[in-house]
Amino acid sequence: MKRLLYLGLLLACTSYGQDFSFGRKMVDTLTSASFWGRGYTNDGMKKAADYLASQFQSYGLAPMSGKDYFQDLSYSVNTFPGKMEVAVNGKQLTPGKDFIVAAESKGAKGDGSLTQADSVQFVNQKDRIIFKLENKLTWEVAPEAVDFSIVQLDKNSVSLPLIAYKVNFENKLVKNFKASNICGVVKGTEKPDSFIFITAHYDHLGGMGKDVYFPGANDNASGVSLLMNLAHYYASHPQRYSIGFILFAGEEAGLLGSKYFTEHPLIPLKNIRFLINTDLAGTGEEGITVVNATEFPKEFEWMKKINEEQKLLAAVNARGKAANSDHYFFTEKGVPSFFFYTLGGIKAYHDVFDKAETLPLNEHEHLFKLIVAFNNKLMGN
Ligand SMILES: [Zn+2]
Repeated sequence: MKRLLYLGLLLACTSYGQDFSFGRKMVDTLTSASFWGRGYTNDGMKKAADYLASQFQSYGLAPMSGKDYFQDLSYSVNTFPGKMEVAVNGKQLTPGKDFIVAAESKGAKGDGSLTQADSVQFVNQKDRIIFKLENKLTWEVAPEAVDFSIVQLDKNSVSLPLIAYKVNFENKLVKNFKASNICGVVKGTEKPDSFIFITAHYDHLGGMGKDVYFPGANDNASGVSLLMNLAHYYASHPQRYSIGFILFAGEEAGLLGSKYFTEHPLIPLKNIRFLINTDLAGTGEEGITVVNATEFPKEFEWMKKINEEQKLLAAVNARGKAANSDHYFFTEKGVPSFFFYTLGGIKAYHDVFDKAETLPLNEHEHLFKLIVAFNNKLMGN
């Protein structure tokens, strides 16, 4: 009995371990320093794009355009490639942990005194710089630079009142940043003109200065790893319908990659039977929330039923429309779509703590199974 139980456990661990190790390895790779937060300095996004396209090729996906995997676009973005030094009241602060420079800031160099403007802001009017106390540091991507600087401080990293500062940080506005969506397809065996799309954004915030980057493990290395696992699977198990895979650029800059695709679709949008977008897929101990559930109640019921029958996730919650990820412009153009995100677990978001080491990735295999079963239902398998 004992020996059988042990073998059973061993087998369970092994089958779970295979899927898990794929997702984990992919998240580790995408969050490594060489991809520098898949953003705007150190060529991070371009390196990630090249790596992911080479993975598509190795799985055997065809380029959606018929030519190559890349759909190019460009946009304007404010970047911080150089120095990133901030001291207040004589104390040197650590970038990313103690402070961030607001994404739209211009560079600043020099020192001066500060005047308290309100309960959380201290300013130097002449030098056009604002120091703001925050409960949590949350970074963004900005399309332009303003003519002042904002330094956001973790309120626990400084002693009040703020009296004096010394800074040296540089911004560079890049007017025509070049990015690419990565688009592959597994051709359908019976209805190649009918598509199911699986999408995820691979870009993140990039780096802030020379030494700090935002790994974006949950946002969205987790969703990319799930998409890549599904691409790997479908490439060796072609379906009746074609399965399209898009890794979007520019999501953090305002859903720019997915917007571009819907304006320049590589296949007619009306041929997409359903689109599933995954973004923030790295936790899940409390289940998932499905955006657009109320728009497509029949498909949502299918998803809930599959989840209950196969005992996959703790909960599949319904939410209405929301412009919060790359499904949005597809929905607006009439493409039936869901966007799901996982619930529970770590709360790191758009900060340096969203890293691979602390990402549980505990529902990767269940999400994989849920999507495969849902797609089967969509295709009438
Ligand atoms: Zn995201």
